Amino acid sequence: MEYQNSAHFALELDAKDELNSFRERFLIPQHNGKDIIYLCGNSLGLQPKAAKQAITDQLDNWHQLAVEGWFDGEEPWLGYHKQLLGPLANIMGALPVEIAVMNSLTINLHLMMVSFYKPTQQRYKIIMEGGAFPSDQYAMESQVRFHGFDLEEAVIELFPREGEVTLRTEDILTAIEQNADKLALVMFSGINYYTGQFFDMEAITKAGHAAGAMVGFDLAHAAGNVPLKLHDIGADFACWCSYKYMNSGPGGISGIFVHEKHHQNRELNRFAGWWGYRNDTRFKMTPGFVPENGAEGWQVSTSPILLMAAHKASLELFEEAGSVAALRKKSIALTGYLEYLINGINAEQGEQIFKIITPKESSARGAQLSIICKRNGKAIFDHLLANGVLGDWREPDVIRLSAVPFYNSFTDVYEAAKHLAEAARLVK
Ligand SMILES: *Cc1c(COP(=O)(O)O)cnc(C)c1O
Repeated sequence: MEYQNSAHFALELDAKDELNSFRERFLIPQHNGKDIIYLCGNSLGLQPKAAKQAITDQLDNWHQLAVEGWFDGEEPWLGYHKQLLGPLANIMGALPVEIAVMNSLTINLHLMMVSFYKPTQQRYKIIMEGGAFPSDQYAMESQVRFHGFDLEEAVIELFPREGEVTLRTEDILTAIEQNADKLALVMFSGINYYTGQFFDMEAITKAGHAAGAMVGFDLAHAAGNVPLKLHDIGADFACWCSYKYMNSGPGGISGIFVHEKHHQNRELNRFAGWWGYRNDTRFKMTPGFVPENGAEGWQVSTSPILLMAAHKASLELFEEAGSVAALRKKSIALTGYLEYLINGINAEQGEQIFKIITPKESSARGAQLSIICKRNGKAIFDHLLANGVLGDWREPDVIRLSAVPFYNSFTDVYEAAKHLAEAARLVK
């Protein structure tokens, strides 16, 4: 697309935007009586207006039906989660039976590793991206220790080449191949939280399997952001949180994907609980765990209905919009516009004051741009804040900005870049 640096141009794009009515469906925080420019959906998505009603409905059921709510009412709680499986399957590129809605992300990562990280003296290594989200690093570290292995020995972190900021796919594949004889698990994020790099999940899965390892993904920053094809690429498992691009609220409920090929495998370890028990006989409460077929067999505890209600409200918007495929087109244009405007600021300054470390190719990134500030980044970030632009700040010098197609407009992006340009002029 040919972009222009003008408010008029941004307005024109907004007028042509087929998804522009979705902004109205979200609650946008205010700053000096105006909508804030919220570019932080990578951290916490905005609240869908429908969330409050969805939660209130379940509070009402609780009031009126009490324990009978599990079996009675319009949406009996016992099967409430089933309503989420279809929309999530669309977002993940999975079969509904491969999805379960449960727990929170890091917990699910642990539960998935219980099943899919089964180290032996020959095969015990994990390959992951260097600079993964800390929670994932801690999960890997503690899992490795739990199995009696040494962290330094067992976890291989891959870092970019000297002078580069993101990983090359070829280097990831080579590292997997080189460690093939000892590799138990390849564990990557779909999109790295810091750089915004969208990994080639298909190539990584293929290489991991060729090496004889299991392959899993943490989709915290990918879910609801970029199109995914978990089933077709044959990933063994994945997990995600729903409160970033899926807008289900702080600490919202997470989910897992377990590929169909593993559903009948009784050799896999699981940490079981009654909510994963065969549905039809769960309430016989007999000894001996028999899992429900599919990913639901990994559920452990009673469904948190209030969290699921908020999640359902957000997922209904995805269905209405045509899921991620429809959102992605706008997302690419929004992020491309932000990139164009930032490059313009650098040109005006005659130096690269804002270095974008996120890959340039849209196939290698989602909504987020991660920007290294060459001078006084914190002051620049504070200038944005003071002008009602909310992104997020990562020490020591990175600002992450994500324009989310559901609720951000091209005008948001234009205004944000205008304040970024002012900051560049002001801050020495
Ligand atoms: C956001 C995020 C988390 C957060 O995990 P919680 O268990 O939900 O607190 C973990 N990993 C990654 C990669 C994330 O981006």
